Amino acid sequence: MDFGLTDEQRMIVETTRAFVENELYPHELEVERTGHLSLDLIKEIQTKAIEAGLYAANMPEDVGGAGLDTLTWLLYEKELGRANYALHWTCVARPSNILLAGNEEQREKYLYPCIRGETWDCLAMTEPGAGSDLRGMKASAKEDGDDWVLNGTKHFISHADIAGFTIAFMATGEEMTPRGPKKKITAFFVDKGTKGFNVREGYRNVSHRGYTNAVLEFDDCRVNKRQILGEVHKGFEVANSWLGATRLQVASTCLGRAERALGHAIEYAAEREQFGQKIGKFQGISFKLADMAMELKAAELLTREAAWKYDQGTVTETDMSMAKLKATETLAFIADEAIQIHGGMGLMDELPLERIWRDARVERIWEGTSEIQRHIISRELLRPLGA
Ligand SMILES: Cc1cc2nc3c(=O)[nH]c(=O)nc-3n(C[C@H](O)[C@H](O)[C@H](O)COP(=O)(O)OP(=O)(O)OC[C@H]3O[C@@H](n4cnc5c(N)ncnc54)[C@H](O)[C@@H]3O)c2cc1C
Repeated sequence: MDFGLTDEQRMIVETTRAFVENELYPHELEVERTGHLSLDLIKEIQTKAIEAGLYAANMPEDVGGAGLDTLTWLLYEKELGRANYALHWTCVARPSNILLAGNEEQREKYLYPCIRGETWDCLAMTEPGAGSDLRGMKASAKEDGDDWVLNGTKHFISHADIAGFTIAFMATGEEMTPRGPKKKITAFFVDKGTKGFNVREGYRNVSHRGYTNAVLEFDDCRVNKRQILGEVHKGFEVANSWLGATRLQVASTCLGRAERALGHAIEYAAEREQFGQKIGKFQGISFKLADMAMELKAAELLTREAAWKYDQGTVTETDMSMAKLKATETLAFIADEAIQIHGGMGLMDELPLERIWRDARVERIWEGTSEIQRHIISRELLRPLGA
């Protein structure tokens, strides 16, 4: 594994950083204070991101994306992650990789419009009664001739308000396994406006202001079998091919935010004076900086190694879980320490630190909680011993 960046990778990092600083940072305070990101602003920044070649950079070249390898894509994600989440997600979007699993008809209808910036996707798995335990979902689909009829409720569904369609994961049967009955899951494309499909406002969230979540209700919602993504009963197989990459994407965006917070902390420690000297001269402060830098590097190395292995085809669930776990917990640690180093000023919204601190909270919950990541890692340790 080569630890240095290629010229191309450096250029992508610099271009993305410049875009984030020039086009996203100026809008952060307004989004944080109002909790709202207008569609006009989304469209304005989106147009610039498309012109700069930064939009949908996670996608392969043959479908109109940038065709980056995983490591390079994650370097790009790290830069995006520095900014407010709503701004970077909706304005410089990455359509879900899962859309690549669609057949050509589905790609025409869903994937390409997302890549062109004409619409957005959203993914509906979580339910009020089924979070970490997704197989426990109650929402179901029943076959009826050439159609399937969907019923149930999903919640916490990110940016479903602006999405043109959702990919809804529904229980479509049950099979017996040695561990007891197991639900079979199928993924369906459901267009906004389909009869029986309702999107309503979700909850107010302490993290990621402006980044909305919604409740999705399916009430005898009828979709044709052509709307199935992948195969019947194989929804999780499709999702699993995408979830690992998403965990690395979460890790990378956390690294970007952690680096931004550390940068502020270093600058402040070097200029703020108390008791007649720079506070960075106090070991109580300088040792914090040393620990923050070390933890960040450890998280970054884990993430980069997992990305590199992803491209070699050797990545394991543990690699991706370790990267996600370490990066999200490191962000929480660094955000908290950066505020401590700033004293009271760290809590004021003139600086992005209180925002980064709030935003860090959700990262240990979505895309698999920290406990679930630890479960995945420990399972891989214990299974060979039959435990
Ligand atoms: C802002 C936001 C946006 C989201 N966007 C989406 C989206 O777009 N689409 C979507 O489908 N979902 C989305 N989610 C849902 C997210 O993935 C879930 O919140 C997450 O999977 C955890 O589920 P839960 O909140 O129901 O918690 P629960 O699963 O109920 O967990 C509660 C607690 O129990 C612990 N726990 C559960 N099982 C175990 C276990 N086996 N071992 C140890 N501890 C365990 C958890 O770690 C946690 O601490 C979003 C969530 C948020 C907050």
